[in-house]
Amino acid sequence: MQVWKFGGTSVGKPERMKSIRDLVTANSGRKIVVLSALSGTTNALLAMGESLMANKKEEAKKLIDDLYAHYSDFIQELFNTEEGLANGKAIIDKEFSFIRSLANLKIYTLKHDKQMVAQGEIMSTQLFTAYMKEQGESVVLLPALEFMSIDADNEPELIKIEEKLEGLLAGQTDKQILVTQGFICRNPRGEVDNLKRGGSDYTASLIGGAITAEEIQIWTDIDGMHNNDPRIVKRTFPVRELLFEEAAELAYFGAKILHPSTITPAKMRGVPVRLKNTMAPDAPGTVIKSEITGGAEIKAIAAKDNITAIYVHSTRMLNAYGFLRKVFDVFEKYKTPVDMITTSEVSVAVTIDNSENLDKITDELRTFADLEEHDRNQSIICIVGNFLADKSGIAIKILEAVKHIPIRMISYGASEHNISLLVDSAHKNDALEALNEGLFQFDK
Ligand code: ADP
Ligand code: ASP
Ligand code: MG
Repeated sequence: MQVWKFGGTSVGKPERMKSIRDLVTANSGRKIVVLSALSGTTNALLAMGESLMANKKEEAKKLIDDLYAHYSDFIQELFNTEEGLANGKAIIDKEFSFIRSLANLKIYTLKHDKQMVAQGEIMSTQLFTAYMKEQGESVVLLPALEFMSIDADNEPELIKIEEKLEGLLAGQTDKQILVTQGFICRNPRGEVDNLKRGGSDYTASLIGGAITAEEIQIWTDIDGMHNNDPRIVKRTFPVRELLFEEAAELAYFGAKILHPSTITPAKMRGVPVRLKNTMAPDAPGTVIKSEITGGAEIKAIAAKDNITAIYVHSTRMLNAYGFLRKVFDVFEKYKTPVDMITTSEVSVAVTIDNSENLDKITDELRTFADLEEHDRNQSIICIVGNFLADKSGIAIKILEAVKHIPIRMISYGASEHNISLLVDSAHKNDALEALNEGLFQFDK
């Protein structure tokens, strides 16, 4: 069985949703189809939530009316029969009546906001399933809230997911297409929750890992993973093959095409991940797997913003053993992952992207260390490829390309697949462009 995930733009217009039917039914073989919300819907639902949190009920109601009008137009074009349209209308009327009931609550909390934002995927999957039925396809909807769950640390509960999914699938052996919602899940309190923005990719990989799928396909609006961020850099091109490790680094360090955690579940079970373009289904896209042949030394570059760099100096002088442990204990205590680290004899610099507990962390570090003023608004630029330890000349190529840009930190050697640079975000676009020109061959 394969798992195919379609993102917001791939289901955002009625004709796109129709073309997904053609794609998933083109070849035989059962598939689990994971859908995101229609493009723009998650942002609209979050905007409603913001208005409600601020007690601006009229503003929220206007947003709800606008979104309802959008869905009314959508179903008019999607369905071909009177009966199909009536089913579509029943779906949106029921879900919008739930949205309106949330908007009418006296006190709107974070719990309600999570229910609100889940409505995007809840509607897209019902509409697609109803459309498939109208077209006579063998289809069933598997509600993600019945099998997708996270623990108190927001980590997916892999064993539970696998067991529950197995049970649900056992009851549907006669169906060809099993549709489910990306992004949404339940938390340990049984409430509706989610896997964070862009989380539908993660859902697809969690399902693919849980059933040890033949392949996971992520369908989006671009021809696979490009060698650099196409939103920023002018001349980018698709990379046809990547190792799991390489793709994981790129996703974690900002390549928006994949949610940061997507690769882990697939890699654990050795399930290949293929990135495909809904607008050009015959284009080869990118395949991500455990072994690849050949390929360029430097494969791709990604960047992650909103990074804070913290500079810590030991108050004891030389040979301060135990110092690093004390430093990292503080980050562990506040559940804050550290991305980059550089050290000297008495100093250590670290970067974090979650600065929610920054003040508590720095206060605690000051009890045993001197801190320099931390730098906010930094970007990690991550260069990914095959950097075998006995190869020479890679670092010089990279530094030569960015010699005009001030570099705050450099991390090299921890993995054979990643070299990272920290720069002020003001220099990020310039650095990405300069690295693109300096590290890749183009037909000039
Ligand atoms: P979806 O809604 O299908 O999940 P996303 O917008 O989340 O789609 O991801 C696809 C987008 O990711 C592309 O349109 C592209 O602008 C952006 N992107 C950023 N970095 C890369 C990259 N290295 N390769 C390909 N796309 C990238
Ligand atoms: N709809 C969610 C979002 O916009 C999840 C996803 O698209 O992957 O973040
Ligand atoms: Mg996405």
